[in-house]
Amino acid sequence: MTDQGKLLDGSRTAAAIRAEVAAEVAALHAAGVTPRLDVVLAGDDPASRVYVGSKAKACGELGIESHTHELPAEVTQRELEELVDRLNAESDVDGILVQLPLPGKLDSHAVLDRIDPAKDVDGFHPHNVGLLQQNRPGPVPCTPAGVMELLRREGIEIAGRRAVVVGRSDIVGKPMAMMLLHAHATVTMCHSRTHELAVVTRQAEILVVAAGRLALVGAAHVAEGTVVIDVGVHRVEDRATVERLFPGNAKKLAAFASRGAVLAGDVDFAAVAPKAGRITPVPGGVGPLTIAMLLSNTVRAARRRRGV
Ligand code: NAP
Repeated sequence: MTDQGKLLDGSRTAAAIRAEVAAEVAALHAAGVTPRLDVVLAGDDPASRVYVGSKAKACGELGIESHTHELPAEVTQRELEELVDRLNAESDVDGILVQLPLPGKLDSHAVLDRIDPAKDVDGFHPHNVGLLQQNRPGPVPCTPAGVMELLRREGIEIAGRRAVVVGRSDIVGKPMAMMLLHAHATVTMCHSRTHELAVVTRQAEILVVAAGRLALVGAAHVAEGTVVIDVGVHRVEDRATVERLFPGNAKKLAAFASRGAVLAGDVDFAAVAPKAGRITPVPGGVGPLTIAMLLSNTVRAARRRRGV
């Protein structure tokens, strides 16, 4: 199979999910309900602003009402928690998302713990984390949920296969491992203290990388035929690195020349793709799925809360 033929196209799967969510939104509208997502953005982190903008745009395209609450970086813990309390109390609000990371010394656990679990469309509240752990229904974190949708819709067998997850964050690595386990994979988790990472990852039939380290995973980390899912997203602003990561890729170099940066993942795509059985690109892999699953979680929260 050519490297192109191996691509797991996250954008295509995300479009299919969004079409399904749009149909559910239309049914809710017909029942007199407009689902609503409220996003809290504290501080002026440029990446967070871009993510929040994409989420609001995606809501608009599907007929989900969205409100963004912008707070200054100097916002106090108390002000932030009071806003969450107000949104919890508002009956029209179906989903609440607090964009992370929070600036300064704000305690994100305390803020997330305060969100009504029924409105927790990110699935980060400890109540919902517990439901996921027990494999009971509830909102689940969007990025690993998107990866599971991609695997299922692409017909990739999970049950009984060896899956390795690199990264153990609460928002990606841990819920990813739990979802793969519930789908009956044999799961190994790796992190920054893992010895001989490549020896462990070479055991994987399904390898999910969410380490936040540019091109951490190279050809030596992957066995022939492995399904490779790259969650990492990095803005590469240095030409030498772009040339190293995308050798002979005129399209990437042209994008770099016009924009001054290109996106790349935790996986060295050019090195790994020839060995991989299937592989997600960056961009166009996991990113679009994350937003699609947020929309899906919001609509599901609206249906559950309003009994439609
Ligand atoms: P994070 O909270 O920084 O966690 C990174 C994890 O990777 C940690 O568990 C860390 O281990 C582990 N790690 C770091 N260096 C490692 C190494 N050399 N070898 C093995 N493990 C290593 O990051 P995150 O929030 O999970 O995000 C991971 C990446 O995914 C980031 O690039 C982020 O931008 C991206 N992301 C993308 C999406 C999307 O929609 N596409 C969504 C969320 C995140 P320790 O626990 O030992 O420190």
